[in-house]
Amino acid sequence: MRLEIDKGRLVSEIETLASISDAEAPAVTRIVFSPADLRARAWLKARCAEAEAELVVREDAIGNTFVRWAGTDPSAPAVGTGSHIDAIPNAGKYDGVVGVLGGLEAIRALERSGFRPKHSIELLVFTSEEPTRFGIGCLGSRMLSGVLSPDAARKLKDSDDTPLDAVLEGAGFSGELERVRLSSDHYKAFVELHIEQGPLLEQHQIRLGVVTSIAAPASLRILLEGSGGHAGAVLMPERHDALCAAAELILVVENAARASGAPDTVATVGICEVFPGAVNSIPSRVRLSADIRDVDLQRRDAVMRKIEDAAQGIAERRRVSIRTEPLNADAPAGCAPVVIDALSESCRKHGLKFLSMVSRAYHDSLFMSRIAPTGMLFIPCRKGYSHRPDEYASPEDIARGTLVLAEALAALSR
Ligand SMILES: [Zn+2]
Repeated sequence: MRLEIDKGRLVSEIETLASISDAEAPAVTRIVFSPADLRARAWLKARCAEAEAELVVREDAIGNTFVRWAGTDPSAPAVGTGSHIDAIPNAGKYDGVVGVLGGLEAIRALERSGFRPKHSIELLVFTSEEPTRFGIGCLGSRMLSGVLSPDAARKLKDSDDTPLDAVLEGAGFSGELERVRLSSDHYKAFVELHIEQGPLLEQHQIRLGVVTSIAAPASLRILLEGSGGHAGAVLMPERHDALCAAAELILVVENAARASGAPDTVATVGICEVFPGAVNSIPSRVRLSADIRDVDLQRRDAVMRKIEDAAQGIAERRRVSIRTEPLNADAPAGCAPVVIDALSESCRKHGLKFLSMVSRAYHDSLFMSRIAPTGMLFIPCRKGYSHRPDEYASPEDIARGTLVLAEALAALSR
């Protein structure tokens, strides 16, 4: 088998997909089920239709797209690969896209080499990895793995308060959400190629990362309610300023992560909405979001408890109300030895060095690991930048990652 990645075509496809966007280049904005996302999906299906390999496309009720290259034993569990093509506002070209278009090119390269898999190889494009529209990340893979039930999904509303059902209908997806969940024998293995979104590969000057575990994310919505009033008329002893309470709490979040004793603990307040948001009005309400992650579940949960306890203390002292609502708290995932071995072996076969590493961002693979032996392969991105327009992965790194992916898919599907 002589595997050759068509780097030129792959890179030009990444550029074309980036141009299907609601932001001006080089930024990419592609919110799930927006017209841009639907155009991107249609474009991708057309690429699959003209691929060298014969690919069968299927979409489920939540819009996950399965692109299947049938194996010689079509009833055997498939080997999956894939990622997402939705992008947060003002994002870059590579997050998710490298795993989707790299996955497609890996299949094409295997076909060109004359390889025929025993197990079908399936490219999976997940719906809404990004939480932008529905406030919850990995919507598609949560449903595939059964982590999010159809009933819970139907309660979701988008940022304009439109229920998920109506958004799906508007985007042209029908069918029963009950049928989205995959059985645990659907995939023999699942591998996701992704940019690192961190600086470690670049710092080590190693071009490939084989992921051994995926950090556990959790997020809290924090609603603070004080009392508003005229910024001139209400004197300081009478104030119950919601934003001042929020300011204390934001520092609690930072300190709780810093004090955990492990560099793997991170915590961020990324949203702070102030009402009424006027220069001469005391803030009466604030909405915060906190994102807390760790590779160790107990340590992460301890940080969450610390934040919740501190919130109660601040509320009492400042006589404001503070409500913390957990939005999600997922468990970390260990990658499957069979996938780690296939990726490592594939690197060795091509004489490529790799770094064993933790994924600190979470991905659809976190949920796929519940129903399939799962692993991830990272390529570097410049300075670790991601979720910003200057996100960059070099054509050489993309092609190298795609080559290692293809080799691993071949090994897993034999
Ligand atoms: Zn991603």
